[in-house]
Amino acid sequence: MAHDELWQKALASIELSISKANFSTWFKNTTILSYTAGHMVIGVPNGFAKEWLENKYQNYILTALRDLDPAVSGMSCSVYNPQTHAQTVDNASTTQESEPSKEKVVASTEEAVNVVSAAAPLTTPRDIRPQSNLNSRYTFDNFVVGEHNELAKAACVAVSENLGKIYNPLFIYGHVGLGKTHLLQSIGNAVEKSGSTKKVVYTTSERFTNELIESIKSNTASAFKDAHASIDLLIIDDVQFLSGKVKTQHEFFHIFNALHQLDKQIVISSDRSPKAINHLEDRLRSRFEGGMIVDVGLPDLETRIAILREKAGLKNFYVGDDTLRFVAENIKNNVRELEGALNRIIAFCDLRKQEPTKELAMSALSEIIESSKKKAVQSKDVIAVISDFYEVKHEDLIVKGRKKEVVHPRQVAMYLLRKELNMSYPGIGKYFGGRDHTTALHAYEKIHRLTNEDTRFSEEISFLRDKLYSV
Ligand code: ADP
Ligand code: MG
Repeated sequence: MAHDELWQKALASIELSISKANFSTWFKNTTILSYTAGHMVIGVPNGFAKEWLENKYQNYILTALRDLDPAVSGMSCSVYNPQTHAQTVDNASTTQESEPSKEKVVASTEEAVNVVSAAAPLTTPRDIRPQSNLNSRYTFDNFVVGEHNELAKAACVAVSENLGKIYNPLFIYGHVGLGKTHLLQSIGNAVEKSGSTKKVVYTTSERFTNELIESIKSNTASAFKDAHASIDLLIIDDVQFLSGKVKTQHEFFHIFNALHQLDKQIVISSDRSPKAINHLEDRLRSRFEGGMIVDVGLPDLETRIAILREKAGLKNFYVGDDTLRFVAENIKNNVRELEGALNRIIAFCDLRKQEPTKELAMSALSEIIESSKKKAVQSKDVIAVISDFYEVKHEDLIVKGRKKEVVHPRQVAMYLLRKELNMSYPGIGKYFGGRDHTTALHAYEKIHRLTNEDTRFSEEISFLRDKLYSV
């Protein structure tokens, strides 16, 4: 099969397995540059595509290619210029295996982005000034304070009153649904409400990434950077999603520095501490750690009741204390779920035209409460958490194989099975495709030792353990 035909067929099957938007973003203008000794080099239009294809889509690509040609053993990407390459293909029709010529291939992702930025026109046709993205629903006034978030709220209030002057950056972390976004948005709203002319931008790290990519595609990357450099308060939510996104981290690092040098305020949130964010450049991690770091914990019972009361009040819905207490006693780990439970009760009352008694709350929430009670952690939960965190496939973790990149995740999984589920070593060995019990014992001891030696790693383990009990 000719290379081009092979690639077109592979693309057709990849298109079926990923979303349309992702397909057109990452696979448009790709081609096969060379195929030698089982190794396929795919030509991509820029460094971002190279990064994504190699890191996120490698498995899809290899599976699709191997279905068509089992001899394919590996792949990598190289940045190329589609225009010049069209010629190359014509000229090279007799020498198909030839490597792409050097000047047609931009050597690194770094260069690719620079090339793109340099190509940006001086006048920007589109207005790419970032929006503030603030939602007035979130304010300090309607944020209930308890021991679990007292410090975080105080830090946020202080920052909103002294932009760039006290804690910079302010880094807030904690599990999902515990009020981080609420706090971050409140800072922005407080600044806007104070009548200041400061430019406030709230964004999520995913949105930031997408906008950066868009700007690169439309040759407005330098305007994107300039626009960010003029912000007075930059709020980036859920920064953990920058994990592994090398190029975005690179650009973010420069924007961060530019703002920080001018004493512009940066506020960041994450579901874990800077130490526990995987695949984060050290220089960015140390920037994150350079200001104030505060965590948001779990609210205690009384605070949960107070939050419910606040939320019911906002909806002009009166619920008696015993009902609120019943809900708060049964939903403990997540304020969003607490709110969801209240909404469910309100809907129940509306439908039945009844008052919100404790009995009615019990029946409205019976399913939710039952399922949360039943939930005991099982071995498959450990596998799910590990494969999600380390981005490895379930099968690769379990089956006997020597893929290097799964060795560490597998050892961590073995460790957690022993430590959290008290599984026996022979049981663990058997679970992982019939390995010997000594393998499980060795894994346990090694990970145990590492947790004592390396604080960052020990945070990683405690993050994984938390995840296990919160999924
Ligand atoms: P996170 O960003 O940490 O996942 P959110 O800020 O989105 O959590 O909070 C989830 C929901 O819970 C939001 O509707 C938010 O208003 C509410 N919430 C969380 N903590 C509080 C609090 N202390 N007081 C009032 N509402 C809260
Ligand atoms: Mg959030």
